Amino acid sequence: VPSAAVEALQHADVAALLPRPSGESDKYRRGVVGIAAGSARYPGAAVLAVSSALHAGAGAVRYTGSAAAEVVRAHPEVLVSDQGPAQAGRVQAWVVGPGLSDGEEAQRTLDQALDAAVPLLLDADALRLLARRGPVPRPDLLLTPHAGEAVALLAGAGVQATREQVEASRLPYARRLAELYGCTVLLKGSTTLVAGPDPAVPVRVNPTGTPWLATAGSGDVLSGLAGSLLAAGLAPLDAGSVAAYLHGLAGRTASGAAEGAPITASEVAAALPAAWRDVA
Ligand code: AMP
Ligand code: MG
Repeated sequence: VPSAAVEALQHADVAALLPRPSGESDKYRRGVVGIAAGSARYPGAAVLAVSSALHAGAGAVRYTGSAAAEVVRAHPEVLVSDQGPAQAGRVQAWVVGPGLSDGEEAQRTLDQALDAAVPLLLDADALRLLARRGPVPRPDLLLTPHAGEAVALLAGAGVQATREQVEASRLPYARRLAELYGCTVLLKGSTTLVAGPDPAVPVRVNPTGTPWLATAGSGDVLSGLAGSLLAAGLAPLDAGSVAAYLHGLAGRTASGAAEGAPITASEVAAALPAAWRDVA
């Protein structure tokens, strides 16, 4: 297998891609993100994804799921709907999966989001649900697996691999997943890779980040952030790239100078505006 071309994400490219509100912007033009996440067991994943989307410039966030009480308590700005992604409102991109669980209700939520005609980010439980059904023809899809979820997605497309194999050959597996699913794949880990479905386009490698980001809820923050960028109109490859870059910077900012110090995912979300300012 020829090794796929790669390019490191550059600060200037990320800066050029950051969506900026103009004098004519209203909240709808800034981008409305729909978030279907959380469950009785994992309400916090929903709170983190929503918090991150709000801190990443979404004009509005619409939440649907069973953690509405917790989400609204943490963020009174949020619009709540009990209709699932079937009721689109003015949603311009959906984020489905963090803490969602993988029962029948979650399956229905995923089906509705796959039927909605806006870009869609799938993470966490939604990736395992997608793996059960296999690739769907949606080029505007952004998948954000860690290595374990990548193994499930590969299996869903008929490719057997172990977590160790994926960790040892992250680049070719990111490329392979993007081709198998015909969409953009952001493979998380110590370095994050973003691969688009077109093999002629180099895989992007994110240079920012800190091992302190290996903490519970960190991926939920990345999902909300990337969803906000999708809703602002960035293409999935750009949304994934900018999200990975800002997430890494926010982790560094929250963690502090030199070797850094422990951080929580909530603090990473709260540090997003500072990371944004560093790039812009
Ligand atoms: P999740 O496993 O879904 O919570 O996502 C974990 C997040 O933390 C992803 O954005 C990873 O890229 C990031 N992460 C995990 N481990 C490391 C590490 N050793 N160095 C840098 N980032 C990491
Ligand atoms: Mg995760």
